Amino acid sequence: MAVPPDGKTKRLYLHDAYRREFEGRVLAVRPGPAGAMLELDRTAFYPTAGGQLHDTGVLANHPVLEVVEDDGAILHRVALDAGALQGLVGECVAGIIDWERRFDHMQQHTGQHLLSQAALRVLQGATLAVHLGAERSTVDLALAAFGPNEADRLEDAANAVVMENRPVRTHFVAEAEIERLGLRRPPKKSGTIRIVEIADFDRSACGGTHVRATGEIGTIVITTWERYKGGTRLEFLCGWRALRDHRRKSRGLAEVGRVLSAAEGEVVEAVGRLAAREREVSRRAEETRQRLLVVEADLRRRSLTPPAVLAEVAHGRTATEVRDLARALVAGGGLIVLLAAADGRVVFARSPDLPVDVAALLRRVTAQFGGAGGGRAEFAQGTLAGEASPAEILGMARRWAEEELRGA
Ligand SMILES: [Zn+2]
Repeated sequence: MAVPPDGKTKRLYLHDAYRREFEGRVLAVRPGPAGAMLELDRTAFYPTAGGQLHDTGVLANHPVLEVVEDDGAILHRVALDAGALQGLVGECVAGIIDWERRFDHMQQHTGQHLLSQAALRVLQGATLAVHLGAERSTVDLALAAFGPNEADRLEDAANAVVMENRPVRTHFVAEAEIERLGLRRPPKKSGTIRIVEIADFDRSACGGTHVRATGEIGTIVITTWERYKGGTRLEFLCGWRALRDHRRKSRGLAEVGRVLSAAEGEVVEAVGRLAAREREVSRRAEETRQRLLVVEADLRRRSLTPPAVLAEVAHGRTATEVRDLARALVAGGGLIVLLAAADGRVVFARSPDLPVDVAALLRRVTAQFGGAGGGRAEFAQGTLAGEASPAEILGMARRWAEEELRGA
């Protein structure tokens, strides 16, 4: 058997991914970003590498926040000043891995090997890239077309291998030997290569941590997919993550069903009906609003003797409502309408039979009081600004409009 590629630090996880506790000698303590970096002669902590996230845990009674690889050495970051830890150099210290986090990584990582091989066998889709995240993981496949049918076939094939509980073994080979092994994923390193093998299914060069049998991966689910760089990017979850995702979604669906009084199998239809009803209700509400505006405009006009100027701050109305009301008011003829919404937006409008230019009127207003706006001779809108209240400004605009009417 070839000699494992340990580098400066002996990597216990390469030989036993299930080792949660170990002892190692501190070789150096260096100042690092936000704390100190401890280098040991051996470690069970996995550093961020090969797409897999680093472990956390406890080292010499200090929480390990990050583990990185640096020129063959593995460095453990703790949130203490390097100076305060110099006494540890040469000492033997105990390390404990956060097992929940590590095992989760092992499930996702082994699940990814399995999924990639299944994609190759069932869909002839090679894996182009992999991302194993803290919450979400993705596999990019060289597949231009992918849909629910492909997702089902891939999930079925992958989960069949999970349920067969095939052994997952690692061993080391010399670089010269790898050609005859038929690796799905060729090594990125040279020298001694670590091979991860799912019995009679997949062989890859990989330095990560994996479960010892496919059953420990747990269920593999594909949650979403999208077109990505001409291929397909799948998002997947394994093991506990898949269970938590299922729990969250099924409870959410049950809650939606409860709110809609729909049985589980009828939720999608019920939401569809709800959406259709909402569109219909909105359409009718808009029709009603428009009819009411006409009625309101008609009532308001009865108290006026044309030609007249109507100026007011329309409290509690949106800018759209103010605009529509102005249009409805001037439609009957003989009227100049100067309306302001509560937010300072103004609409000036006039009936076609009056000779007043309301755009010019608005310019005069904004020049004197501040704000901005524009439009045409019969319809203009803008925003008021400055010290004066909308009521004061509209009062002045009304006087100017009335002068123009009298002068005309
Ligand atoms: Zn791997």
